[in-house]
Amino acid sequence: MGDKFCDSVCPSRKKVLILFPIMESLLNENQIEQLRQLVSQSQHTVVCCHVNPDGDAVGSVLAIVHCLRRLGQEATAIVPTPFPDFLDWMPGAGDIVVYSKQVEEAKSLIEKADLFVVADLNNPSRLTDMQECVMGNPAPKILIDHHLDPFDFCQLNVSHPELCATCEILCHLFWQLGEMDKLTPEEATCLYAGMMCDTGGFTYASNRPVIYECISLLLSRGIDKDKIYRNVFWTSTPNRLKLMGYMLFVKMKVLRKMNTCIMTLTNEERYRFGSKNGDTEGFVNLPLQIMGMRLSIFLNEDTEHPEVVRVSLRSVDDFPCNEMAAQFFNGGGHKNASGGRLQCTMEEAVRVAQKAIQAYSALLK
Ligand code: 5GP
Ligand code: MN
Repeated sequence: MGDKFCDSVCPSRKKVLILFPIMESLLNENQIEQLRQLVSQSQHTVVCCHVNPDGDAVGSVLAIVHCLRRLGQEATAIVPTPFPDFLDWMPGAGDIVVYSKQVEEAKSLIEKADLFVVADLNNPSRLTDMQECVMGNPAPKILIDHHLDPFDFCQLNVSHPELCATCEILCHLFWQLGEMDKLTPEEATCLYAGMMCDTGGFTYASNRPVIYECISLLLSRGIDKDKIYRNVFWTSTPNRLKLMGYMLFVKMKVLRKMNTCIMTLTNEERYRFGSKNGDTEGFVNLPLQIMGMRLSIFLNEDTEHPEVVRVSLRSVDDFPCNEMAAQFFNGGGHKNASGGRLQCTMEEAVRVAQKAIQAYSALLK
């Protein structure tokens, strides 16, 4: 393939060696055997992910469910809380059981499950209200995740924090299991959407060449990547756009000396704009467009628990959001994208954020 490429593009330099990045074998032989056995012995698999699921969480859960069903297994996707509307278009999204909305149905599926695949989550606490029910079922569990510091609670752990998304892990797994050239366009679409979401459309955490090998393989399975981009990043409601304008014009506080921005959003403001939870997805990234900004903090009153302020942190270069999230916001995450939560009023949350900024001033200035 390399030589053919050279012949057509550069006929005079036939002997140039082109090194194509190759897909990664993430499991050893024992683990492959264990995975095959766990799947083949199960009658009903529940596939779940973290609270407030994002594109990678929903994408990985759906890709796994589609794949298991194609292999003749019974599988159901259950997520702890609703996912944002901009993921509604994903193939199979309509069949996802939302625990917080369909408690009885979800509980009965979880109780009868004989295998769990837990995707895009490093700690059972991130199952929130579902945790007790899932952990109360002794059925085997498989973890597939790319967050740091995985908690050891599953029989098989496929944890790779160095990869850009749980969906990237799945690409390598499917490739290693010989499934890659059998993927349906629906499965491939979910995998691409997950990788695209966790890298902001391949604009961060996406410099490893093998990511583009994955994309190339997914394109050959029939995805329409341009449409997936449009569906996720370029589709809004009028209310969401108005809220975004309000946040940038009225609510964005630029702390020039600290190269930091803070935005806050209360439920009262949210209702004024008729907005829902997922509508604020991506807002935290916007201030990082300002030249020189290193950190963006978004404090967001929780719609379901108004006494809780959800915290989102985004940074550029080497500023460690995850350390700040762990130290000040009861959370964690990735170096450039982290989150957490505070049980307090918005005013108190702003004070905590100011303290955190002071504590990290040497790294921010
Ligand atoms: P977001 O700002 O989109 O809610 O979260 C960004 C990232 O931060 C997530 O992908 C996740 O890795 C991490 N994160 C968010 N909330 C929490 C939390 O409460 N605990 C931990 N450990 N990580 C979180
Ligand atoms: Mn992820």
